[in-house]
Amino acid sequence: MAALPERPESWIRVCPEGLFVEPAGIYIDPVRPVDRAVVTHAHADHARPGNRAVLATAETLAIMRQRIGPAAGQTQQAVPYGEVLRLGEVDVALVPAGHVLGSAQVVLTWRGRRVVVSGDYKRRLDPTCAPFEPVPCDLFVSEATFGLPVFRHPPTGHEIAKLVHSLALFPERAHVVGVYALGKCQRLIAELRGAGFDDPIYLHGALVPICAIYESFGVPMGELRPALAATREEMRGRVVLAPPSAIADRWARRLPDPVTAMASGWMRVRQRARQRGIELPLVISDHADWDELTETITELGARQLWVTHGNEEPLVHWARGRGIAAEALALVGFDEGGEGEPPPLAGEEEPPTGDVLPLSAPEDA
Ligand SMILES: [Zn+2]
Ligand SMILES: [Zn+2]
Repeated sequence: MAALPERPESWIRVCPEGLFVEPAGIYIDPVRPVDRAVVTHAHADHARPGNRAVLATAETLAIMRQRIGPAAGQTQQAVPYGEVLRLGEVDVALVPAGHVLGSAQVVLTWRGRRVVVSGDYKRRLDPTCAPFEPVPCDLFVSEATFGLPVFRHPPTGHEIAKLVHSLALFPERAHVVGVYALGKCQRLIAELRGAGFDDPIYLHGALVPICAIYESFGVPMGELRPALAATREEMRGRVVLAPPSAIADRWARRLPDPVTAMASGWMRVRQRARQRGIELPLVISDHADWDELTETITELGARQLWVTHGNEEPLVHWARGRGIAAEALALVGFDEGGEGEPPPLAGEEEPPTGDVLPLSAPEDA
């Protein structure tokens, strides 16, 4: 066995609270309350309550306040994309990560060295948020949610067309689509609108507040209606969006003969769709797939790679094979119940090729 490469970037390290940038005195996406936090985006596993000072984009802060109220941070500093701040001895900037509204990579420059902490990200276009901005760096800190070569997300338009086709095929049936409340819900709506779907879209109550925040930041959603107020007849042939936990629940029983769909990168795993009773799996993810991960690492030209969470080992192996000093940080506390969902059952996932998959899977994927 080759020895692990050492970490030349000794000014950034993993502590029990999370990733600590020592000369700036900040933690990035801390898992325990800290004095000064920089938050990449508002998914629950990255944006936790109880930090004293929080720095993030205005969009991320607005969503955090909606979700966790005053616990979003005693003092909150909104930083626009691209603005450079001096924190301690470090120049810090937030640049778009393309993951959800307000999502940011943290660009840290200290003594001529540049580190980019990407949070969660994707590369394909999303009409609801600014596209990922590649920033060349010495060390890239990446997620690896879909860090296996079996994960290649199909074109989004292809998945949207499947839903539109099913609506035409079954005009008597409601189409209930499981979506995570932050990101996937609004993206699915925007993608449908972009495909020319102008009908009202019905929402489970849990999805309404974040849609309103997206609209307040200038992301049009078209006509949205509360599902609770609609009659059974009215919902025939309609698209109804609900959190994944609600689609198999008592809540969905009032829908007329529903076609059960779910929009998630995990829908690539057929067994997972089957076990959840998903009739119409839509492979739409807000995370980079294998090609996006490897192409991004190549594009940034980083000589060092740290992989935070997900399927770390295959990506580390891939990078080392290309002469990049890569290692898995194995950060704990990420991607388990990120959207208020119970963690999936151990062994639930089975990839189409029989490769190894993680025992837990993110709920924001
Ligand atoms: Zn996320
Ligand atoms: Zn995450």
